Amino acid sequence: MAKRIKRIGVTGGIGTGKTTVCNFLRALGCEIFSADIEAKRLQEIDPDVVAGIKNIFGKEIYDNGIPNRKRIAEIIFDDKEKLAQLNALIHPKVFRAFDEAARRAEAEGKTMIAKEAAILFESGGEKGLDAVLVVAADLDIRIARLKARGLSEADIRARMSRQFSQDELLKRADVVIWNNHSLDLLEAETKHAYLKLLALPYRNH
Ligand code: ATP
Repeated sequence: MAKRIKRIGVTGGIGTGKTTVCNFLRALGCEIFSADIEAKRLQEIDPDVVAGIKNIFGKEIYDNGIPNRKRIAEIIFDDKEKLAQLNALIHPKVFRAFDEAARRAEAEGKTMIAKEAAILFESGGEKGLDAVLVVAADLDIRIARLKARGLSEADIRARMSRQFSQDELLKRADVVIWNNHSLDLLEAETKHAYLKLLALPYRNH
């Protein structure tokens, strides 16, 4: 029988370098599944999700088949009930899509699949994973990177306040990559982390 695929989570606060690490992991042969991209896709093409969002936020939240994400983010920031309803609508479907992606990748003989999620633990998305890789970086470096991408400091701090703190994430990590230096070093660190993750035992699930 083919070897079981290792399912890992990749998370970290904004501006730590999750996406960059995932690109390096992909080059090493790891399948990458972006929970954020899948959630966005579902909000545009999944009939149940579209109907559910219109139910929660009103039909006018959609414009030409695209939901107004900025407006939704503003509403759920103040309304925990609506946030819970939105999560209940989307998270199980993202969970299932990851499971399908993992089965497909396993059938193709891949040894590892990574679920990249900005909020992994907050959404219970670590369930069913064999290990979690946390990408971390010093706060001032993260802020500088995000500013270079055009975000304001106020926006950065607001986004950070909605995520687990880096310390919380580090406590839950099986493997950590610190990304305070060059991209070359990050690439080398990613390879090292990849080998560590491959060597970890599977979790029962
Ligand atoms: P977000 O949560 O906002 O999507 P992220 O954690 O996925 O962020 P990336 O998009 O990978 O982070 O990186 C943020 C920015 O910092 C990108 O523009 C990326 O190219 C840059 N970056 C990441 N790591 C480094 C590094 N070691 N040196 C220089 N630039 C870097």
